[in-house]
Amino acid sequence: MAIDATQPYDDSNIFAKILRGEIPSTKVYDDEWAYAFEDINPQADIHTLVIPKGQYVSWDDFSARASDAEIGGFIRAVGTVARAKGLVEPGYRLLANIGQNGGQEVPHLHVHIFGGHHLGPMLVK
Ligand code: AMP
Repeated sequence: MAIDATQPYDDSNIFAKILRGEIPSTKVYDDEWAYAFEDINPQADIHTLVIPKGQYVSWDDFSARASDAEIGGFIRAVGTVARAKGLVEPGYRLLANIGQNGGQEVPHLHVHIFGGHHLGPMLVK
């Protein structure tokens, strides 16, 4: 079920538990600002999630409240992960779902990285 992107941060969400090491994940990348891991239900041959270390519900929350250092570190981490996966030359897609209409299910900001093949049309209505 999609979340309300204006809700306060709830640190019992599944990605907060992954960050705390309370539930397992397949680590792809880890630094001061971001953690990346494989999506448990991949929608493409490559489907990796990148999350900020800070407590932000959504892209909206992050872009409004995060420091320039957090934002810079997170954006750089997304690019680093895509490069490490060899996705730049063939191309790839980034996606951040926000709130109800976006279909966001986990209330901790995450950017999806999709790649590995031609990804088809951007949206299916
Ligand atoms: P969204 O709809 O943008 O909130 O996407 C949530 C994503 O998190 C989905 O692609 C899920 O497959 C993924 N997901 C949920 N639980 C886990 C988990 N424990 N480990 C990895 N990915 C997960």
